[in-house]
Amino acid sequence: MVRFMTETPDLPSEGERSPGGHETPVPKAVVARLSLYSRELQHLIHEGLETTNSSQLGKRLGVTDAQVRKDLAYFGQFGYPGIGYRCSELAEQIRRILGTSELWSVALIGVGNLGHALLRYRGFAKQGFRIDAAFDIAPQLIGTRIEGLEVLPMSSLREAVQRGVRLAILTVPASAAQHVAEQVAEAGIVGVLNFAPVTLSLPDHVAVAGVDLAIELEQLAFAVVNRGPKG
Ligand code: ATP
Repeated sequence: MVRFMTETPDLPSEGERSPGGHETPVPKAVVARLSLYSRELQHLIHEGLETTNSSQLGKRLGVTDAQVRKDLAYFGQFGYPGIGYRCSELAEQIRRILGTSELWSVALIGVGNLGHALLRYRGFAKQGFRIDAAFDIAPQLIGTRIEGLEVLPMSSLREAVQRGVRLAILTVPASAAQHVAEQVAEAGIVGVLNFAPVTLSLPDHVAVAGVDLAIELEQLAFAVVNRGPKG
């Protein structure tokens, strides 16, 4: 599982507030689990289930029913006594909380191997993200079409933002990532998903999440090496 590097297990981070505007900080780990609940609810709906409960949802994700209830309680009251949760209703409520009930228009910057693979990946659309523009600096790529998208020069970023693109996925080399991140921030992008193995520094009004697959493998290696004896 790829987890955001920004995730801090159960530690509230400064400035995080519940969507209702109350002063209850929402830990990043809770928000990360909401995404898992959302994904699991889609599976349940796909399997034809109309209702579920915290124990079923928790079991499928390896968390306790109390944890599921506690996580949801940050955002209000959900479910019905004696019934549990209506799957599609809870899925929609979680989408609203996460901000994914509307479609997000995304730009991909850096159409190398990883960028190509992400452009081909169909899974984002199901979660409400559509890659609407692709950018690169390489003259031999600019003007070519990949998955129906024309690769644009970096100078067209601002136009893309004016057309409604709000997020950017960075799949550029680490050496270029900070500069590219500043360019996208200046163009008006409000959130950056950074695949380059480097920590970005951007103004507070731009949200940043990082995915470093090598770090995930490192964590996995650590978990394997430190696995306790099986009883
Ligand atoms: P990957 O790391 O995705 O496997 P790769 O090895 O094919 O990619 P990289 O050198 O990592 O290539 O570059 C990824 C892409 O980012 C390339 O298409 C490159 O032209 C592009 N790129 C590099 N620098 C910039 C930049 N400053 N602005 C925009 N795109 C850039």
